[in-house]
Amino acid sequence: MAGNGQVLCREEDRTSMGVPVSQMWTVASYVIAQKLRGRKQYPVVLMLEPLFRCNLACAGCGKIQYPAHVLKTDLTPEQCFAAVDECGAPLVSIPGGEPLMHPQIAEIVEGLVARKKYVYLCTNGLLLKEKIDQFKPSKYFSFVVHMDGQREHHDFAVCREGTYDKAVEGIREALQRGFRLTTNTTLFDGADPKSVREFFDEMMDLGVEGMMLSPGYTYDKAPDQDHFLSKKKTRRLFRQILSNRREKWRFNMSPLFLEYLMGRREYKCTPWGMPTYNIFGWQKPCYLLQDGYADTFDELLRDTKWERYGTESGNPKCANCMVHSGYEASAVNDTFGSLRGFAATVRATLFDKYNDPDVDDDTPMTPTRSSGPLVQIGAAPDA
Ligand code: SF4
Repeated sequence: MAGNGQVLCREEDRTSMGVPVSQMWTVASYVIAQKLRGRKQYPVVLMLEPLFRCNLACAGCGKIQYPAHVLKTDLTPEQCFAAVDECGAPLVSIPGGEPLMHPQIAEIVEGLVARKKYVYLCTNGLLLKEKIDQFKPSKYFSFVVHMDGQREHHDFAVCREGTYDKAVEGIREALQRGFRLTTNTTLFDGADPKSVREFFDEMMDLGVEGMMLSPGYTYDKAPDQDHFLSKKKTRRLFRQILSNRREKWRFNMSPLFLEYLMGRREYKCTPWGMPTYNIFGWQKPCYLLQDGYADTFDELLRDTKWERYGTESGNPKCANCMVHSGYEASAVNDTFGSLRGFAATVRATLFDKYNDPDVDDDTPMTPTRSSGPLVQIGAAPDA
């Protein structure tokens, strides 16, 4: 591990959640300031999509189905900076597409770090080793490598053999150079909880800072419509995965959001908490749906019919959605919205291992492909 200041960031400036203390402080003071100002709708994470093209074509992705002229278009660094300044969120996530294919991605990251934004650059890791010289380690900057499980699961999920090994190569290189790095895992129906738990061990053994998780969302543009999870199945899957937690696991997410995924608490969607900006403008209402675009962030907040969205709205597109872009900001709001929420977060972070004798999760297993019988949302018998 590199012996520089970044190691200090990773080893000392880090909570048991896997998030640097300075980042937690920045988010906490930001949310409290919004509340003191009486703001009901405020962004926590800006989802900045600088391009849609990718070097993979995953079956569960809804972002790469655009026509060629759209896939060729990039946001400029200036457009990115303007969106970040306009929005004001303390965290910026850069998904895509594959951001490392953007010719000016390093300039974009540098400009955001200079603004003291905590930047999470999401990548499938295939270009990580090749492009890493363009970036500098910083407590404000983290790579987020998309890993969908153990080797066979991951390669199957992203529809290409060898991607797991290539991504792990990139992870090792980034960690060796002192970068912050987390993983991001999307889970679909048919995921094997035991394999996912083994995968968590593998990632923590590699030395990643923390892990992020989300259930898959039924993108109507995705070619594979059969692997998405109903809410009931999501809760059952996450309870199996996240109960009886192992000591070494760290999650770079709100612990209350993880409890929500396990079915231990309920939240309403707050899609304005993670607004999306891309080449079309500010996407209504969230990262997942495209019910039009606004020219400005204020217009997005003002003109979106928010009551039409969220599970409780009756909107069929939201019926089975439990994804972080809708519900993690709700959990963050809960943490800083009441003493009860704050105490629950402290308990979840420091003490709770979620012991559950009903969940048989530690039997050694042989990895299998996540290709079992799958159920489509809406047609799910237990939905
Ligand atoms: S429930 Fe999901 S799909 Fe619906 S608005 Fe919220 S995040 Fe978007």
